[in-house]
Amino acid sequence: MTDAATPSDPRPPKPRPAPVPDPDSAPYWAAAHDGRLVVQRCENCGTYQLYGRDRCLVCRGPVVWVEASGKGTVYSFTVIRQNYARPFRDWIPYVVALVDLVEGPRVMTNLVDCAPEEVAIGLAVRARFEPVSEEAGIALFELDR
Ligand SMILES: [Zn+2]
Repeated sequence: MTDAATPSDPRPPKPRPAPVPDPDSAPYWAAAHDGRLVVQRCENCGTYQLYGRDRCLVCRGPVVWVEASGKGTVYSFTVIRQNYARPFRDWIPYVVALVDLVEGPRVMTNLVDCAPEEVAIGLAVRARFEPVSEEAGIALFELDR
């Protein structure tokens, strides 16, 4: 049986897909597993960046992982109303959003624990975390009411 799903697919839900950490991303996934949001900060020019890279995108300086505030604002979003692939079919409708972190990086995420009608560009949001494997968690965001 393929993984292609239909509205009448009788198979049980699947867990949320888990990332496979690599040397550049492992600190991010491990921090999220432990309930912390981290970003990279350039030791030379102070620029924050995410996803993880070996050097600063601006000046090629060395970078370190630092804890982020977990706060941001909705830059843009869409509401997914049709996705029959497991596990997503049990979430519809759900919100996929681009969130601008206070520190600067923009991340793609899900907004959770809110009705899609409540979401608007510019709303304040804050991170929460969901472990998805022994070594990784993901950052989801909720409205910062
Ligand atoms: Zn730099």
